[in-house]
Formats: sequence, C-alpha cells, structure tokens
Amino acid sequence: MAESRKVVIVGIPGVGKTTIVSKVLEMLKAKKISASVSIFGTIMFEEAKKNGIKNRDELRKLSVPEQKKLQSMAARRIASINDDVVIVDTHAFISTKEGFYPGLPHNVLEILMPDIFIMITSRPEEIYNRRMKDTSRDRDIVSIDAIKKELDVTSAMLSTCSILCGSPIKMVLNSEGKVDEAAKAIVNGMGYNNGS
Ligand code: ATP
Ligand code: MG
Repeated sequence: MAESRKVVIVGIPGVGKTTIVSKVLEMLKAKKISASVSIFGTIMFEEAKKNGIKNRDELRKLSVPEQKKLQSMAARRIASINDDVVIVDTHAFISTKEGFYPGLPHNVLEILMPDIFIMITSRPEEIYNRRMKDTSRDRDIVSIDAIKKELDVTSAMLSTCSILCGSPIKMVLNSEGKVDEAAKAIVNGMGYNNGS
C-alpha cells in the first residue's frame, strides 16, 4: 500500500482551520480521494476525558508534562491512519501559563513525519471578530496586537518544523467570506487541481 500523504494545517485559534479543512475534505471526496481530517485537540481531548477533563478548551490549562503525554498519544493514533491523504488540524503553539508551548514538538514530528505544513492566516482584525462572534468555543479574547504576535510566533515555530522534517510550508490566506478559495488553494497545493 502506498504511504499516506500527511498534511499538517496550523493557524492561531479562530483563523478558520476547522472550517477550511472540512471544505477541503469535501473537495477531495468529490475527486474520489480517500482522505480524513484529524483535529489534534479533539483527539487529545478524547484521551484526556479518561482522566476527568470535561471541556476541550481546558486542555491548554493542563501542565506542560500532561499536555506532552496527551500529544504523543494523539500523534500515535493519527500516524496509524491509512487514507491517501491524512489531514491534521492543529496549532503551531499553545498559550500555556509557562509560555508558548509547541503544538508540534520534536517527538510529535518524529511520529507524524508531515509531508507538508500549511499555515492559515487572516487579517488580525478578522481573526479578532471571528473569536468574538463564535460562541461555540471558549477562546481567550486578546487584543489585536496580541493576535499579531500570535501570528509571528506561529511562523517562527513552523519554520523549525519545516527544517526538522525537510517539508515545505505553504501560506494560505483565509479572507472574510472566502472559505472556498482558501480550501481550493490547499487542494491545488496538493496537486489535485484537475477540473474546477
Ligand atoms: P480553533 O483553533 O480555536 O479550533 P479554528 O482555526 O479551527 O479555531 P474555526 O472554528 O474554523 O477556527 O473558525 C472560527 C470562526 O470563524 C467560526 O465561527 C467560522 O465560521 C468563522 N470563519 C472561518 N473562516 C471564515 C471566513 N473565511 N469568513 C468568515 N467567517 C469565517
Ligand atoms: Mg478548530
């Protein structure tokens, strides 16, 4: 069996990762490509529930060693998926009490071995508004300046991932109301750009 292509999608909270990857999955399925999306935080949460954690947004408040253990468990689960395209929806870093903690530390990268990293970006003002409007999640509300800093930390963390794995980084802009365009840019970047 051919190896799965592992596509890691990162971006700061509220930038639109989960919205875009569900569209990407639809587009790949329409092209009859076997693909799956693993939301890293959701898989970590499934493991954490066994230890009494009740809300996905509580994960980032756990100690770094606890998060590290859950990350490895999630990475191993994702690495065992056999679809042609395995998409991972995650964060380049998590804001913890101790500071910015990598979402993709070396041990996780070694397990996943991503073929490509995609960074989703948007205008800081749009990200701010999306966080404010989205009541389905318990996101930290921070200033526009803090959002700019988060975008910078994401690129810094991601360059290291790219160097460690020898895998490229593609930047995709998620403009307001243009989820389909962002999803198309990702599918085209995977080389599946025949047709629409
Ligand atoms: P998290 O890292 O916290 O899971 P996320 O990056 O997965 O965040 P989403 O949950 O996909 O972000 O999107 C955040 C909010 O922004 C949602 O309410 C979504 O509908 C909205 N949104 C995403 N992309 C766009 C867009 N291009 N235009 C308008 N609204 C958008
Ligand atoms: Mg999400």
